[in-house]
Amino acid sequence: MPTMRAIQVSRANGPLELVERPIPDPAAGTVRIKVQACGICHSDVLTKDGHWPGITFPRVPGHEVIGVIDAMGKDVPPRWQAGQRVGVGWHAWHCGWCDNCRRSDYYACQTGVQVTGISIDGGYADYLVAPATALAEVPEELKAADAAPLMCAGVTTYNALRNAGALPGDLVAILGIGGLGHLGVQYAARMGFRTVAIARGKDKEPLARELGAVHYIDSQSADPAAELTKLGGAKVVLATVTHGPAMSATVGGLAPRGRLMVLGAAGPMEASPLTLLMGRRAIEGWYSGTSIDSQETLAFSVQSGVRSMNEAYPLEKAAEAYDRMLSGKARFRVVLTTGN
Ligand SMILES: [Zn+2]
Ligand SMILES: [Zn+2]
Repeated sequence: MPTMRAIQVSRANGPLELVERPIPDPAAGTVRIKVQACGICHSDVLTKDGHWPGITFPRVPGHEVIGVIDAMGKDVPPRWQAGQRVGVGWHAWHCGWCDNCRRSDYYACQTGVQVTGISIDGGYADYLVAPATALAEVPEELKAADAAPLMCAGVTTYNALRNAGALPGDLVAILGIGGLGHLGVQYAARMGFRTVAIARGKDKEPLARELGAVHYIDSQSADPAAELTKLGGAKVVLATVTHGPAMSATVGGLAPRGRLMVLGAAGPMEASPLTLLMGRRAIEGWYSGTSIDSQETLAFSVQSGVRSMNEAYPLEKAAEAYDRMLSGKARFRVVLTTGN
């Protein structure tokens, strides 16, 4: 039986182990993908530490996958063909028939969303098998390692921004300049928003401006809410940080009908009900998106020149690469390449 390399976790909090596994065969409705690159996302902690309810082991993490379809299961729509280059993100499958799916609220599928690298094996491997519902087309112009982080960090920021209600010329703030934030600033600027970057300290200002921010707020030396108010108030604040109080500090800087879009899985935050109701301000959570959202993220990234800044590691060094991601020091996303 032909085998492949895979990086698996055998138990909650277990190490990332390099193992040889049989190359899987695609079941009905799925395709097998030869992986070229897979990004390492902070959410992979949910797999490694076993925090996802009902997760079973061994499990291969990875939900920022780029590769080529190399085998087709039965009943895959002709839209997808062997040899096609595809991406797979967080959202792998939803049922399509429950009440929430029938309202197009696929993220809330009552049958249970299948998540790549959590419910099914992910992209830290030479091959993965993915449902046809998970597939996004990858433009030729994008190299695999460049495209991979766009399948989660990219789609999350792009899709939140395009659904937040701001129009070209509106003031839009990106809170945090990290893996998500450095993409958020680029998308916001390319979408025509008057883009503000908010981060701790002065050192990220030159980069934020290079990425397209026209204003920079150092949240250590100034009050972000007051600064945003001076600029006229933000129609949208995209909160990419994982610190609740940092999010709370921006609510007072929202314009009337402004929205704080929460992307970072942070601890509790606070907001004054009076601030919310007097200006009809809102706080909304955002979830990445489905395969068509990923596909449109890749297409927009090519069209507008948005690029993820990455550090690449070979697949065998997944454990080292994962630690680098956890350290928070990577600039900005960490990507595994297979050499396939
Ligand atoms: Zn992710
Ligand atoms: Zn459903």
